[in-house]
Amino acid sequence: MSHPDKAAQFIRDEAKAHWHDRALWYVRAKRDRVAQGVPEWETLREIAAQIKAHTLSKLPDYLEMFEGNAKRLGAQVHWASNAAEHNEIVYGILKSHGVRRLVKSKSMLTEECHLNPFLEARGLEVVDTDLGERIVQLAKEPPSHIVLPAIHKRKEEIGELFHRHLHTEQGASDPAYLTEAARGHLRGKFLKADAGLTGVNFAIAETGGLVVCTNEGNADMGTSLPPLHIACMGFEKLIPRAQDLGVFLRLLARSATGQPITTYTSHFHGPRAGGELHIVIVDNGRSQILQREEFRRALFCIRCGACMNTCPVFRRSGGHSYESTVPGPIGSILSPARDPRKYWSLPHASSLCGSCTDVCPVKIDLHHQLLAWRKELARLRLLPLSKRMAMNIGGWVLRYTWAYEWSGRLARWAIPKLPRVILYGRWNVWGRQRELPPFPKESFREMYKQKVGSRR
Ligand code: SF4
Repeated sequence: MSHPDKAAQFIRDEAKAHWHDRALWYVRAKRDRVAQGVPEWETLREIAAQIKAHTLSKLPDYLEMFEGNAKRLGAQVHWASNAAEHNEIVYGILKSHGVRRLVKSKSMLTEECHLNPFLEARGLEVVDTDLGERIVQLAKEPPSHIVLPAIHKRKEEIGELFHRHLHTEQGASDPAYLTEAARGHLRGKFLKADAGLTGVNFAIAETGGLVVCTNEGNADMGTSLPPLHIACMGFEKLIPRAQDLGVFLRLLARSATGQPITTYTSHFHGPRAGGELHIVIVDNGRSQILQREEFRRALFCIRCGACMNTCPVFRRSGGHSYESTVPGPIGSILSPARDPRKYWSLPHASSLCGSCTDVCPVKIDLHHQLLAWRKELARLRLLPLSKRMAMNIGGWVLRYTWAYEWSGRLARWAIPKLPRVILYGRWNVWGRQRELPPFPKESFREMYKQKVGSRR
């Protein structure tokens, strides 16, 4: 199903769609307030972008340096060229240690590789320990947002879910009560786990250390109790020096949730005493993106989710409508790079307003890349005929002033005469109840002239 079809399903529940929109806008507004409290914010963004560009330009060197230093600290480093290899490597490590129960902190990479179903099919118990991730895992749904995985669920729905799985009181929806219930449930899982798996926010080449940011401390719990720690990372998580970390940590939490810093910023330098640390470095299509000049900057992404919170399309269509591990503006660039045929509709899920580019802490030119993808998909002839025809007609109308004026006149004459079934019926994606305002009789140019004239 294409993005517009899934989005139409999402907005059928108008109240939920509005609530989703407002919830994300609240996070966006919070991000604005804390960003404005840092006078050097724009300088930080510029430095972060330059560090990322530099790292990617010398990627093989930094990867080698990281591997050498991580091994020196006692970690074992594995390389996976795709998702299947990644899953086999992780399973191999778990099997050789006799692991039956695995606890995971948030890792979008393992979502991308579909690690959970792979391990569950081989008889392992896999428990996501981030609260939002656990909620969607119990609901058997994928995350709908990379930072707020259960943002599409209301507290009443979570209460119902917890009642079924964690035996909380029926009808209870108090967030504090539900969080406490989840805490008790997860505590038991941590205590029984044989291994812990984490994602990686930053990998430091000069030290061989890893940094994982969480708000719940679940990465620390999952790696402190069991003796085996597996850390999975895409190669773009690399930064050259420890001193670069400060730049990204100041940007990440502020952009993600409007916090000055994540509650836990955990540093791992080699395995803990008596334990083992395995680091799995994954490509899975990243090299192809790196080779393409116009899309390379997408690999700067630090997965803060700010572009999703601000995107008017994401807020009003929900993360599941993208049907991709990373949704929103950045997902609409990364996903077509993997499979343009499957994800052809995603670069069109944007108003191209540029708000995503404005908030991105590492200055990815998101809306320019979305436009570039639209051109690329048209070149590959992957757009459906209806879209191609509409775009060709639109392009022709916009090319000639007279065609623009005449099409405006035609629209003003024809639209009020169209049957109501077209305006408000089955084809009206905004829902049947909504009455559109009357169509103006004058052209925008005439309205503008009247307004300006009345002010003079
Ligand atoms: S593209 Fe930028 S704003 Fe979007 S998630 Fe990545 S870093 Fe954050």
